[in-house]
Amino acid sequence: MPISCPMNSRLLALLLLAVSVALGFGCNSAHLPWARAQRPPDAPYVVVLGVAQDAGYPQTACRRTCCEAARLEPALRRYVACLAIVDPSAGQRWLIDCTPDFGEQLAMLDALAPPQSSDARAKASQPLLDGILLTHAHIGHYTGLQDLGREVCGSSGMPVYAMPRMTEFLTRNGPWSQLVSLGNIELRPLQADQPVALNARLKVTPITVPHRDEFSETVGFRIDGPARSILYIPDIDKWERWDRRIEDEIARVDVAFLDGTFFDGEELGGRDMSEIPHPFVLESMQRFAALPAAERAKIRFIHLNHTNALLRSDSDANQLLRDAGLSVATQGEIVNLQR
Ligand SMILES: [Zn+2]
Ligand SMILES: [Zn+2]
Repeated sequence: MPISCPMNSRLLALLLLAVSVALGFGCNSAHLPWARAQRPPDAPYVVVLGVAQDAGYPQTACRRTCCEAARLEPALRRYVACLAIVDPSAGQRWLIDCTPDFGEQLAMLDALAPPQSSDARAKASQPLLDGILLTHAHIGHYTGLQDLGREVCGSSGMPVYAMPRMTEFLTRNGPWSQLVSLGNIELRPLQADQPVALNARLKVTPITVPHRDEFSETVGFRIDGPARSILYIPDIDKWERWDRRIEDEIARVDVAFLDGTFFDGEELGGRDMSEIPHPFVLESMQRFAALPAAERAKIRFIHLNHTNALLRSDSDANQLLRDAGLSVATQGEIVNLQR
């Protein structure tokens, strides 16, 4: 006597689908537990903790469909652009930028790369992070530092790596100056093009870029691991205004996370885009069309404004990008720094 019939197979398939959805497989989840299996357990890596422009997605007070959809469906929401660098063998973790979504992003990092000590007391006293590296003083990139103050974490001596004007900005302006005077953060100097050794196998180099520098200079970072390197430039005015060729910088790394704030010049509905210059993704696509496919495959656009159609995976813009051999950074994506 047969033990199953077609109806039972369908039921079984539906059940399996329900279980896999419940476990988070097959959805674009912020946490990607399976990604851990794809690299050697001790290999250092970078994880993308957010992909949105400074104001996040959805954006406060935006009543357009772009943000109303994300308010109705939490799975569509995205945190502000941020990378974490993790060295599992040393149990160390650093952030590049400290965003308004810091709390959520730290929880995401804890789920992926928990603080390592098995001893509960040691774990409780373990620093939250081994350091934070800042790109610049626009709101999406440093205001999460407020959580390190005595009202929230009450951190002690959190290393915060900053360029000279950024250091001055934090030191001279409240409430940030209080983090410095109370010792919640300990400022460590960065100099353009001078590598900083995070530990014996990881180094980070700030690279100055042209950007609206009202409060601080702006840098991107190059992250070098034991065998692979990453470029991170979330904010830049235009590629043409830089004294370097972006193509040369891409050639020197394995993966490049690049400013993709606006897809084109139309999406802000008549606002003067020269006030907020960024390389439109369409312009970057034209520029990078001349690159070999292997170079284009390194590029991931990040720092997406709430109006950017690349935030919606089924958009025409996304298809256009894929057809051009380019891609969008994914929240939760892991890039291995070792082969
Ligand atoms: Zn920004
Ligand atoms: Zn900026």
